[in-house]
Amino acid sequence: MTRRTKLAKLMGIAVALMLAICSVSPAQEKDKVPAKKIAIRAGRLIDGRSDTPIPNAVILIEGDKIVSVTAGGTPPAGTEVIDLSKATVLPGFIDVHTHVLLNGDITAADYDEQLLKESIPYRAILAARNARIALENGFTSIRDVETEGAMYADVDVKTAIAKGEVPGPRMQVATRAMAPTGMYPLLGYSWELKVPTGVQSVDGVEGARKAVREQVMYGADWIKYYSDRRYHFGDDGVLYSMVNFTDEEAKAIVDETHRLGKKVAAHCIGSDGIAAALRAGVDTIEHGDGFTDALLDEAVKKGVYWVPTITVGAYVAPGRGGNWIKMVDLEKTAFQKGLKKNVKIALGTDAGGFDWKELNEAEEFVYYANYGMTPMQAIRAGTVVPAELLGWGDKVGVIEPGKWADIVAVSGDPLQDITELKRVKFVMKGGIVYKNEVPR
Ligand SMILES: [Zn+2]
Repeated sequence: MTRRTKLAKLMGIAVALMLAICSVSPAQEKDKVPAKKIAIRAGRLIDGRSDTPIPNAVILIEGDKIVSVTAGGTPPAGTEVIDLSKATVLPGFIDVHTHVLLNGDITAADYDEQLLKESIPYRAILAARNARIALENGFTSIRDVETEGAMYADVDVKTAIAKGEVPGPRMQVATRAMAPTGMYPLLGYSWELKVPTGVQSVDGVEGARKAVREQVMYGADWIKYYSDRRYHFGDDGVLYSMVNFTDEEAKAIVDETHRLGKKVAAHCIGSDGIAAALRAGVDTIEHGDGFTDALLDEAVKKGVYWVPTITVGAYVAPGRGGNWIKMVDLEKTAFQKGLKKNVKIALGTDAGGFDWKELNEAEEFVYYANYGMTPMQAIRAGTVVPAELLGWGDKVGVIEPGKWADIVAVSGDPLQDITELKRVKFVMKGGIVYKNEVPR
């Protein structure tokens, strides 16, 4: 055989192989299989939209989407029926402030231990476990706002979940977060040691733009930056703080992020940090303990979301003492003012700031109800409002035709007892059931 005919023969085999592969491509296979049809009988449906629950509803699901919701009626023949007629059915919960790569940091030592003694692969394994915990607690979507030194591992966790390799919520991720040099742990080690930092150190306007481009290049859906630190009370009772970035730097972060079609979350605890973040034009204020009346008005005017993370504040305060306890009380007052002023409050817990195995993220619903929201308002703060914050208002957060079938259920009535939301018995994400412990 000449070299030329040998080559031609090899090419022929290659083409035949390609054709064979193409003829059974997964996409085509998927087209041939009709979408699975499921009907859920819901004893009481809180759809995230209506003010009152719908009794005896039937939710029809085809594949990963909801196709119809009816009050009463019988499921059509040929559908698999899931009987939740003794339960309350709700949209999957959404937590827009998590850290799947962190497992509690009440003290600086807890934090340093994870960054210095745990490898990023080890932390990613725990992150996959944490994602499963979130899903089993009913959280079908989360926004993870920084890996705390684990670089871009949140993108990997998100990808593995999206490909169905591990169970977990839908994710939007912020990757590394940003603070100027010297303004975020790890700090205090000898200058002779090269220790990791919990965030990307970013300085100057050009440095800010470059860091945004880099994080977006590696998969950031959001850019998160630290607006302030060193929180202290003034004699006037206002919580002040030291602002990290110059206005020019913060505006460069926001401008570059928006130019790339992404959004900005800012960590702000003191009033100075909140004011600086609002001046820079961020999309969400994280924590916000030091919100004053004027700053709340500004947030309303600008349509900025507030993610209060009360669970973590109340959790770490006793261990940290001092101002942290006063800050919990201050945030309660700010929350009540914000509620009256109609600030867009979206549920965020800072899970990871507490151990994922110790507290259920749904604790946050309970705080909102105790702080003055009606149970229905609290449920909306953890479903439809964060869905809009994520830009997924057309996909999740309510149970209605066209939305992804992200559905949870609890045994009792959360409108009578909000703590029911901490005892999720049924979880479906995208039409797949991950948990069903509802008594029949
Ligand atoms: Zn956080």
